[in-house]
Amino acid sequence: MGTQQYDIGVVGLGTMGLNLALNIAEHGFSVVGLDRDPAKAQALRTDAGNPRVTATDRPGAFAEMLKQPRAVLMLVPAGPAVEGAIHEFAPLMATGDLLIDAGNSHFKDTDAHARALASKGLLFMGMGVSGGEAGARHGPSLMPGGPREAYDRVRPILEAVAAKADGEPCVAYLGPGSAGHYTKMVHNGIEYGLMELIAEAYGFMIRGLGMTADQMHDLFHNWNESELNSFLIEITALVLAKRDDKTGRPLVDMILDVARQKGTGKWTSQDAMDLQVPIPTIDSAVAMRDLSGYEHERNAANQTLPGPRNSFDGDQAVFLTQLRQALYAAMILTYGQGMAMLRRASETYGYHISMEAVARIWRGGCIIRAAVLEDIRAAYKKRPDLPNLLMDARLAQAVAMRQGDMRAVVRTAVGLGLPAAAFMASLSYYDGYRSARLPSNLIQAQRDCFGAHTYERIDAQGTFHTHWGTE
Ligand code: NDP
Repeated sequence: MGTQQYDIGVVGLGTMGLNLALNIAEHGFSVVGLDRDPAKAQALRTDAGNPRVTATDRPGAFAEMLKQPRAVLMLVPAGPAVEGAIHEFAPLMATGDLLIDAGNSHFKDTDAHARALASKGLLFMGMGVSGGEAGARHGPSLMPGGPREAYDRVRPILEAVAAKADGEPCVAYLGPGSAGHYTKMVHNGIEYGLMELIAEAYGFMIRGLGMTADQMHDLFHNWNESELNSFLIEITALVLAKRDDKTGRPLVDMILDVARQKGTGKWTSQDAMDLQVPIPTIDSAVAMRDLSGYEHERNAANQTLPGPRNSFDGDQAVFLTQLRQALYAAMILTYGQGMAMLRRASETYGYHISMEAVARIWRGGCIIRAAVLEDIRAAYKKRPDLPNLLMDARLAQAVAMRQGDMRAVVRTAVGLGLPAAAFMASLSYYDGYRSARLPSNLIQAQRDCFGAHTYERIDAQGTFHTHWGTE
């Protein structure tokens, strides 16, 4: 194909860019890739084996090959790489061209990039992509935000390449500015919460019940046939079945217990604090990843800090059923926290996000896809301004009928001295949310006592200050 012939360009031919380029081509669109590494450009040409796909390591040639107005998808690491790519690329683009940052950029960076590029007459979108390597290749969940006209321009390509759930593409226009990257950030926050809950369930099984990897594999496999049906439960079963080539032992046993992170969970917690939305399950997941990094201190403390000496003496089958039920309730509470946060952010930042659309596009392709998202979607369909999933009768009932199981699991964690921060946080969130009266009145009294911050009364309007006797 000659110059100005390609439908779309992909910048950054790493794991995501390469696979997304192949996915786009497979759906009948012509693609040109750009990577500063000639070997990666060559890899795309070779892998595609298709005249409608080419790649180069020269930005000028890349810009020349694109149809005008140009549409360019960037899949480079967030931060300096995105800055560098924009800096390099913007001068090669003309008024009306569209640049899409499809990496995991911080939403504030996306807003700044959109403003800077708009002043140059360029359109800019921030788009979350979830699904990892396989998703990029065969159908990711896409979370685009930015100017509506920009979305409409690339909509046919995005709808073609996105995962399909019940025949519907897992992509929707989410709103202006950084709405897409914000939604992806919250997606990842929920992902952190769910992964921590599953890890804690695994902790109960291995440390509390002494189960083997094979037994846990069977259990997670069965759980995936239940209401817990989800991508994360499915891959947990897969992971537990994998043997280490070197030792023949379950590979998971050979992996260092230090969970790394790229920051999207932390960003979720940080912005939740700014918005004053409680997301304690997600916060505890971030904290436990951080704690996992202190392996030397943990090993030293293991020699000095005592815990309970008792071992599990209950009925294993009964407990595993309670654990399954508790996990399902805590999963709903985790989605509920994330979605309540997204709703507040949508109001605060003017995104006007349809929560029903978010639940719809998370049903397929992404890491947090799960059967429960059908119920979550139905809840928002019934009531688009639902403040919290616990306000939906069906989901509230699903959690309420499992509250005893959550308590049993937390009791077991306390009794055995096992860390279960996410289960505990989920249960406390549930108990806090259903409390007509919290002990926060005491905090107000303390604030007034030491700082004359005043308080409100339950029986009169206005603010009050008391001389508490400390002056
Ligand atoms: P990779 O590291 O596999 O690929 C990144 C690509 O960006 C490489 O081609 C790299 O080129 C290029 N690149 C790096 N730095 C620069 C730079 N300064 N200027 C220009 N190009 C640069 O990353 P992924 O494909 O995994 O991730 C891409 C984006 O997608 C990230 O934001 C990531 O967070 C996000 N993402 C990743 C997912 C995953 O599962 N991997 C899932 C969802 C989103 P070179 O090799 O020459 O350095």
